[in-house]
Amino acid sequence: MNFNIAVIPGDGIGPEIVEQTKYVLEKVGDVYGHKFQFTEVLAGGCAIDKMGEALPAETLEVCKKSDAVLLGAVGGYKWDNLPGNQRPEQALLGLRKGLGLYANLRPAILFDDLKDACPLKPEIIGDGLDICVVRELTGGIYFGEKGFKETELGKAAYDVEIYSEGEVERIARRAFEIARKRNKKVTSVDKANILESSRLWRSVVEKVAKEYPDVSLNHMYVDNASMQLVRNPKQFDVIVTSNMFGDILSDEASMITGSIGMLPSASLGEDNIGLYEPVHGSAPDIAGQDKANPIATILSAAMMLRYTFDLEEEADAVENAVKKVLSQNYRTEDIMSEGMILVGGKKMGELIREQIS
Ligand code: NAD
Repeated sequence: MNFNIAVIPGDGIGPEIVEQTKYVLEKVGDVYGHKFQFTEVLAGGCAIDKMGEALPAETLEVCKKSDAVLLGAVGGYKWDNLPGNQRPEQALLGLRKGLGLYANLRPAILFDDLKDACPLKPEIIGDGLDICVVRELTGGIYFGEKGFKETELGKAAYDVEIYSEGEVERIARRAFEIARKRNKKVTSVDKANILESSRLWRSVVEKVAKEYPDVSLNHMYVDNASMQLVRNPKQFDVIVTSNMFGDILSDEASMITGSIGMLPSASLGEDNIGLYEPVHGSAPDIAGQDKANPIATILSAAMMLRYTFDLEEEADAVENAVKKVLSQNYRTEDIMSEGMILVGGKKMGELIREQIS
């Protein structure tokens, strides 16, 4: 099969980690008989320097016409003093909006061989963790009405949490579809004991659940969910939640894995268009030194294979290759520990490619 991928290397370590990921996809193509056509485009600080804006129109056009987008990272010291609306990170907001990406998937996977990086006790994590937080990305309190008003106690500010049935329905459906490809369990997180918007959220999720009788559903209040994530994280498979709750819980879940260089993400819209990127930033402190861990980006590409291209076996092959290389004790500096073999980002990419056959 042929797939068109828009590639945004971005700034800092972005080009290094994206290069290794392209090589991995090419290897997948060779082994499984697919053709990945890459179109490289500018966004972020490098786009500001060359074209005067973080997200040039032609970049968005190429992304819209592609089957998926692979992004490294954007930003860096050089652009830190620009006003907020002219900063490299604006490219990310523009891409989310322009591509209609309403579902953010953040898997938190703790690999057996990296268990030492987890801040939780060994008896809590057992043989490892694999949780996927599905966060609604374009609605809720971040996009609701906001403003100021005068009150008896002085000036007040407000932000409105608002969700429509349609918004909840599409994110819930997405969560159930993802659970079907995993362990078939969805936990919907809300604050339905207090918030009207959460009560609507809960009723819509329950309605959607009827279409997925093979997937189990439970509800949890957000305060309890944040406790359960550190008390008994193994109970979770897919967590679906609102924009703000997801913002907080996805960071909490990923901390359990202990290493930022290992965390992939996907943002999905209608028709399966997806933006795939590591959770970490452009790490300007290590850029150009071959120290960047490419695994988060490579695992993001595995998500692309699974969720946009529906290539389950190929996605498994990439994830298993990563596991294998870790089990052979190879580590980049960010995940290095005593007795392990230190390698650079290029070597790590090469080792992972070798395992795909
Ligand atoms: P960061 O994630 O770039 O770096 C935090 C720390 O983690 C640094 O010490 C870095 O060296 C290390 N690190 C990150 N990724 C790594 C990797 N793959 N391998 C090894 N070590 C890694 O966060 P920051 O320092 O707060 O931000 C740096 C720049 O990135 C800023 O300009 C910020 O705005 C931008 N940023 C971009 C994105 C994005 O593009 N999605 C996300 C977050 C931050």
